[in-house]
Amino acid sequence: SKNRTDRGVCIFSNEMQDAIDVRVQKEARLRDAIVRRELVLHYQPQVDFETGALVSLEALVRWDSPDYGFLMPGKFIGLAEESGLIGAIDTYVVDAACRQMQQWHQQGHGWIRTAVNLAATKFSDPHFKTELHEAMARYGIPPGVLELEVTESLAMRDPDAALVLMHELKELGILLSVDDFGTGYSNLGYLKRFPADRLKVDQSFVRGLLKNPQDRAIVAAVVRLAHNLNMRAIAEGVESEDEAILLYALDVDEIQGYWMARPQSAEAVEKLFDQPLLL
Ligand code: C2E
Ligand code: CA
Ligand code: CA
Ligand code: CA
Repeated sequence: SKNRTDRGVCIFSNEMQDAIDVRVQKEARLRDAIVRRELVLHYQPQVDFETGALVSLEALVRWDSPDYGFLMPGKFIGLAEESGLIGAIDTYVVDAACRQMQQWHQQGHGWIRTAVNLAATKFSDPHFKTELHEAMARYGIPPGVLELEVTESLAMRDPDAALVLMHELKELGILLSVDDFGTGYSNLGYLKRFPADRLKVDQSFVRGLLKNPQDRAIVAAVVRLAHNLNMRAIAEGVESEDEAILLYALDVDEIQGYWMARPQSAEAVEKLFDQPLLL
């Protein structure tokens, strides 16, 4: 099925053309998905170790597509980044998370602190601050409840710019956490100047915790670092009680993971607001 030139160089195969068609179509569908509100947020609780209470949620986007089914971010975020749609998705996600916070508040749950993930493009988008400010104003979001998760590698890509933006976000009353900490190259000179509220220990260290003393040492070091910088340390990807016990001993402040609660719809997660998630 390969089409070849006289010199025998493979220009294109039907398979390649098919793959491109599929991709182009998926990109077009994703573009429509934003307008059609097919993107939905699931929310995963973040739990305080001392009280066992839900302290905040992480909003995680899913694509409920009539064509492709219910897709996790791994199936479309890459495409969104490459096609430039990620900025529009994150705008949507911030709006949807704020709208949901307002709804919970109106239902009498109080302000449920919610963290949203941030793509690289948003970080350098000059309209981003205005967008956030407008979304907060639109839904009456008070300071101290909307949080942004910025990956360590994103923050360290251009730490001077990150520092400026982070301070501006703080002024808007937005909380910050440094996500996937320990997987990138951190400049501690910058880290100490970041006005972040939490360091999120990357899941890969939690994964190795029970078997691997090196991972325990890393988690212990990250927790000490966080505390010395006046940040809370949160561990994600906690899947078992044994991991939780070890993380507690390592002085981690908050945990998030399947062991307490999976990411779930707004309707499902709100049932967890008034019950302790750790026993
Ligand atoms: P992340 O920010 O590191 O999010 C944590 C991921 O770990 C989520 O995967 C979550 O469902 C999963 N997780 C939570 N607890 C556990 C556990 O106990 N065990 C395991 N194995 N996994 C757990 P998810 O929802 O598939 O999201 C994947 C990534 O997609 C996120 O990683 C984030 O980088 C990105 N993402 C998600 N939502 C958004 C969004 O709205 N905007 C942008 N730009 N990126 C997003
Ligand atoms: Ca995250
Ligand atoms: Ca993470
Ligand atoms: Ca403690």
